[in-house]
Amino acid sequence: MLKSIILCFAVFLIAQPLKSIASGDTVSGWGQYDENNVFAKILRKEIPATVVFESEHVLAFEDIQPIKPVHILVIPKGNYRSILDFSEKATDAEISALIRALGTIAKKMNIAQSGFSIMNNSGHNGGQTVPHLHFHLLGGEKVAWEQSLRHKQRDTDN
Ligand code: AMP
Repeated sequence: MLKSIILCFAVFLIAQPLKSIASGDTVSGWGQYDENNVFAKILRKEIPATVVFESEHVLAFEDIQPIKPVHILVIPKGNYRSILDFSEKATDAEISALIRALGTIAKKMNIAQSGFSIMNNSGHNGGQTVPHLHFHLLGGEKVAWEQSLRHKQRDTDN
């Protein structure tokens, strides 16, 4: 009985973020920090994540729905909704820790030599779905944002 309750609870915890990903809901990059967002829960260790790097100010873990062979999410441990409040309110120590971590993790994931892309989405038009600042570190195969955007533009023009 207890096992079934625990199992149902675990399924519920996992299903919630997946539901939001599947629906592609976007969030605002402004406003009050939501303590219940999925990355806040990962930071509090309330839900699991495959952590690849951790320091005083930064946590990095595998994306649950990778779009490239290497897809790591790099987040500050502080409560920042997007790059907007991070750039405004984060300490120099937090900012430098995050930038340094990006390079460290790229090397650790063995994508430094082959190359990689770092992406951040902010707010509705940026397509942000989780209201805690995060950088996508993408590699392991060619990431061609610029080319695909140009192709899209060409398709629209024709
Ligand atoms: P964005 O659309 O830029 O806000 O990116 C949010 C990312 O978080 C997506 O790539 C999701 O796949 C990822 N994501 C959502 N929930 C989890 C989770 N529990 N563990 C790992 N990654 C997650």
